[in-house]
Amino acid sequence: MSDARDRLRQYLEQRREMGESEFVLDSMSVDDALKVLASGATRAAPPAPVRSSGDGPPARGAPAELPRASRTEGVTEDWKSIVGAPDGSEADKPKAPKAAKRPKADEPGAPVVIPPELAAAASLADVAKAIAACKACSLSATAINHVPGEGNPNAKFVVVGEAPGATEDELGRPFVGKSGDLLTKILEAIQLKREDVFICNVLKHRPPGNRNPTDPEIAACAPFLLRQLEILQPKVILALGTFAAQTLLKSDSTIGQLRGIEHTYHGIPLVATYHPAALLRNPNWKRPAWEDVQLARRILDRA
Ligand code: SF4
Repeated sequence: MSDARDRLRQYLEQRREMGESEFVLDSMSVDDALKVLASGATRAAPPAPVRSSGDGPPARGAPAELPRASRTEGVTEDWKSIVGAPDGSEADKPKAPKAAKRPKADEPGAPVVIPPELAAAASLADVAKAIAACKACSLSATAINHVPGEGNPNAKFVVVGEAPGATEDELGRPFVGKSGDLLTKILEAIQLKREDVFICNVLKHRPPGNRNPTDPEIAACAPFLLRQLEILQPKVILALGTFAAQTLLKSDSTIGQLRGIEHTYHGIPLVATYHPAALLRNPNWKRPAWEDVQLARRILDRA
């Protein structure tokens, strides 16, 4: 038992030295962890209940035709090549919930107001035109292209990242390059193609030098994403990365605390997970990311 405790302590100290706060048991056997926990630690609470908002989704469009997948059917060879084959039990276990510290975006006090001219945009193409003409913040002056998002106009699965990077800015497309390739593989692992989903960012123009967006920029751009979601009426949102998750959920919690739980954004189920760029830097996060996308897939299937 003492050996197991030592291993758990060493593991956690190593994680802390790496600047991580989340608790991921991917380098320790489950049996050892359970032995340690049985020695005195308390069990985590069950998953948080689904949060709901009072504003509800607007009228629905025609749903995209998507293949359904069970929790095991969604495991493809592509995903195995990314994260290794799940061990069959741990990947399916719900994660302990961790409460966000601030109100969610759809709670009173943090409303996103869509101006009438944007509310009149009837299609994603109309929203994209409005984004192209937008000068509500300074990012339009420094970016090469606007990046409104792309994908199936009837998508029921929406992926939301932070903001365009250099390559996205040059091409006017979201999630291209290495991160985009990994996102494509992640989607394929849950039996979704890029053309099945809609992919976009919180910010529609690139912050210069990939700096963090400011609060005024986020506030100015928020109506575009919300209008896109109103038009799409997705069944689930997959928020990629700390910034997207914290912005959409109005939370200061870490991505490690926000992931693994079903949240809602304006009445739409939302699952947060690590950004593909983070997964490329830290393979240890691929296992929890796999659990998160499986959760998102299950939410899509139950709809
Ligand atoms: S980032 Fe958003 S708010 Fe700022 S100019 Fe672009 S579209 Fe408008």
